[in-house]
Amino acid sequence: MAEQSRLVVLAGPTAVGKGTVAAAIRDEHPDVWYSVSATTRPPRPGEVDGVHYHFVSDEEFDRMVAEGELLEWATVHRVARYGTPRKPVEAALAAGRPALLEIDLQGARQVRETLNRDGGPEALFVFLAPPSWEELVRRLVGRGTESEEERERRLETARVELAAEAEFDVTIVNREVHDAAAQLVALMTAPSTDSEA
Ligand code: 5GP
Repeated sequence: MAEQSRLVVLAGPTAVGKGTVAAAIRDEHPDVWYSVSATTRPPRPGEVDGVHYHFVSDEEFDRMVAEGELLEWATVHRVARYGTPRKPVEAALAAGRPALLEIDLQGARQVRETLNRDGGPEALFVFLAPPSWEELVRRLVGRGTESEEERERRLETARVELAAEAEFDVTIVNREVHDAAAQLVALMTAPSTDSEA
């Protein structure tokens, strides 16, 4: 069976390590194309425009939305907007590269709705789960880059997001980043099956 390029949407609760798993894939699997999102939040130290995100103004984000340039977008943690530029995703898939979107749950739902409505590439929705709730809280607090208020907001979002696991095609438990990344890459390049699930 031939390998297919597929669109993989990776979502999961805040601080589960989606970004770290995605970064490991970016470093270790250059064959996988990684979607760079647009965001209205400012860069964190070490983040590079065009590599980690396209850092844009509110006005520029408004324009991208108005002109239909985003495959999906969402306001995350009630503070900033994030969205997936549509054209690069289409170009990567057309070029035969498996494409990875690391986005939040609202965005994953939008991608599913859009594909159901308009048709589109075969897509696999993957939920990245923490080994336990306690571990998730530890990771969330351990990161230490957010204010107390922001952390509370993120915990609240995480509770809601954890409950969404059943909406996804596959769950990967993020016990160890390279292991989770390897599982994800295996799913991205696996021959497609005609599963009715
Ligand atoms: P951070 O600000 O910590 O980099 O990311 C915050 C959240 O935004 C993460 O949950 C991440 O998955 C989500 N996110 C990043 N890019 C996108 C995007 O393009 N669309 C959506 N819907 N969420 C995104």
